[in-house]
Formats: sequence, structure tokens, C-alpha cells
Amino acid sequence: MTGDPPRRADGAGVGEAAGSRFTPADRVTQVAPSGIRKFFEIAETRDDVISLGVGEPDFTAPWPARSAAIQSLERGQTSYTANRGTRELRGAVAERVARYGHDYDPDEEILVTTGASEAVDLALRAFVDPGDTVALPGPTYVSYEPGVRFAGGDPLTVPTYHDDDWSLTPEALRDAGADDADALVLCYPNNPTGATMSADEMDAVAEFCVDNDLLVLSDEIYAALTYGGDHESVATRPGMRERTVVVNGFSKAYAMTGLRLGYAMAPPDAVEAMTKVHQYAMLSAPTTAQHAAVAAIERCDDEVASMRREYDRRRRYLTSRLRELGLDVADAGGAFYVFPRITDVHPDGDDEAFAETLLREAGVAAVPGSAFGETGAGHLRLSYATSMDGLKEATARLEAFLDDRGD
Ligand code: PLP
Repeated sequence: MTGDPPRRADGAGVGEAAGSRFTPADRVTQVAPSGIRKFFEIAETRDDVISLGVGEPDFTAPWPARSAAIQSLERGQTSYTANRGTRELRGAVAERVARYGHDYDPDEEILVTTGASEAVDLALRAFVDPGDTVALPGPTYVSYEPGVRFAGGDPLTVPTYHDDDWSLTPEALRDAGADDADALVLCYPNNPTGATMSADEMDAVAEFCVDNDLLVLSDEIYAALTYGGDHESVATRPGMRERTVVVNGFSKAYAMTGLRLGYAMAPPDAVEAMTKVHQYAMLSAPTTAQHAAVAAIERCDDEVASMRREYDRRRRYLTSRLRELGLDVADAGGAFYVFPRITDVHPDGDDEAFAETLLREAGVAAVPGSAFGETGAGHLRLSYATSMDGLKEATARLEAFLDDRGD
């Protein structure tokens, strides 16, 4: 058969690629791709890599949670739930968070979301107006700044420092101009530094927020992974409950990242506003995951405690090994990260180049600190959500790598 192949209206032949007609919106263009993702694309090209890079538990979700998910499917529970999540799960969440001093009404003050990620995004979209300033203590978890920009706001970095154990103080907030901001995002225990806040530090930051009329988004997803002390929530401080959205979820403590479940807690009008965005964007969080989450809260305390004990053991091992190797590292009181400074062993301080060479030459993946903003430069984020054997091998490789460079 002869003749030209059929042509589409845009002139491209059927099956031929036409130039894309898409131009991303400005708010998308101005956000850089995640520095973490870029790094993992390199790591994936090799199969001998030990990864201290991922922020994801190396455990499987506890069996009672998985079994509840399976049973719900066997019962045919495959429909949407209420926009706010099942009443059973909201009730279980309300009881669980009482251990942190929270008192939220499951009917009006809790919204179940698709991961803590959705809860963060909802809070930003529901309360940030274009041009609002949102203060972010840095180094900061990678999603906040893009989330602020997608909501039309302007991020303001509040630097915290290695030499202060990454602590956030009213002085640091004031020096950065956060007294003029509209909102503040807090993440304690912290990703990427592992820092926690003492009760006194929390009191002082809370007072600053009240005095300067800041709304607060408190991401407490690592609350259950606090070592050697109790988790402190800013929302429990005087004058804070009415101005705080608390975010938490099941990904970290329950090793349920793939089930995508989190929640937001706030006064009724705030939950109402977030529910409005959620009901149009998401309808409801995954039903199967909600069944798993009830079981996670009600029947998995022992598994969570044993994962926490194991993380704690690895945290102490990794911290002391890094110090032996000459890397200065602040004590991390929570989450599953340490954030060593590399400038003592790598004087030019280029963390991206260091991490890339470490990956290529020693097969150890770590995330460069500058992926968490300029305040993280000269550091690496190492996750100990990997086996003890993996940590031993990774630190042995790091030692050999540093020795080679010292020769
Ligand atoms: N918040 C922080 C501080 C995190 O580190 C992460 C994941 O790494 C998330 C939120 C996202 O959690 P989820 O899996 O519940 O969306």
C-alpha cells in the first residue's frame, strides 16, 4: 500500500511524537526537583550500594495491621469512607494522641488524610494566601518549601546550626524576621537533623508564636520515634491549640509508608476548611489503609516499641562510629536520621560532591545536606532505617573511603 500515513490535526503522523503542548504553571517551574530523588536515580544504577539515604522504615508493617487490611478486603469494604475518615479511626486517633497531651474531638477536630503529606499540603492550601510568609526552620524537610510555593506563599528560612544542636530559639526566629511572618512550620523530631525540642525550648517557641500571632503547622510524624524522653507538642502550650494544625501519620512509627495514611488535628473551623480542600481533591483517604490503621493503633504497641528499640540501638551505634571516624555529629533525639558535618574530613565542604564520590567509589548512598536547603550545606543526612549489618558495612566502607582520601 502506498500513500502517506494518516495525519493528526497537529500535523504529526499517528504514532509519531508531537511536541508537547504543556507549559508548567509558574508556581511549578519555580520549584526545583527534589535533591533526594536526583540522588537515588544514580544509586539505582548500581546493585552493590548500601543505602543510608531513604527516609523509610526497613521494617514491614506489623502483622495485625496487614491482617486487618486483608480482612477488610475479604469483607468487601472497598467503598469510599466519610470525607473525614471512618469514625472508628478518628476515635482511635483521638485516644492515641492523648499520650502526647492532645485532646481532640474525633467528630470535629480530626481529618484523616492520604499520608501526612496530604495533611501538610491541605494545611498550606487552606490557610496560606498568596504573598503570605511562612517561616521554615532550616535545614528543612524537602516538601515544605514547595508546598508553601504551590499555595502561593513565600518561604522564609530560619537558620538553625550544628553547633547549637540544631535548636530553634526565639532569637533565631526574630533574627530571621519570623516575627513578621504569617505562619511557622515546625517538625520535631526533625527530618533531616533528628533534633528534638526540650520542654523549655518548646515553651519559648510557643510564646514567640503567641506574641507574634503566628499560625503553626506542627508536623509530628516522628513523635513515636523519640528516644530517651517524651515527645513534646507545641499545641499543648498555652495559647497554641487555637493556632496550630498538628500533623501525624502511620508511615514512620508503624512502617506503613505504602498504605498512605496520615491525619491532621486542629480546631473545628480549621478542620472544616481543610476538609473542603480534601473533599474536592481526594474525597477520602484509602479505605483499606484506614482499617489497617485502627488495628495499628489498637494492637501494635509491642511491635512499635520493638522497632523503636532497634532504631535506638542503631542510632547509638552510628553516632559513635561517625565520631570515631572524625565526623562531628549532634546527638539526635528522634526520627531515624543523623546529620554529621563533613567539613572536618572534607574541607571544601561541598556535600553534593562528597556524597556523589562516596556513592561512586564506596557504594554508600547518603543524602547531601544541601538537599534540605542552604543551611544543611556541609553535612550529610544518614538514615539508620537500615539493618545493623548494613550500618556496620556502610561505616566500614566510609572509614576506608576516608582513609584513602587522607593518604
Ligand atoms: N513529614 C516528614 C517530616 C517526613 O519526613 C515525611 C516522609 O519522609 C512525611 C511528612 C511524609 O509522610 P507520609 O508518608 O505520611 O506522607
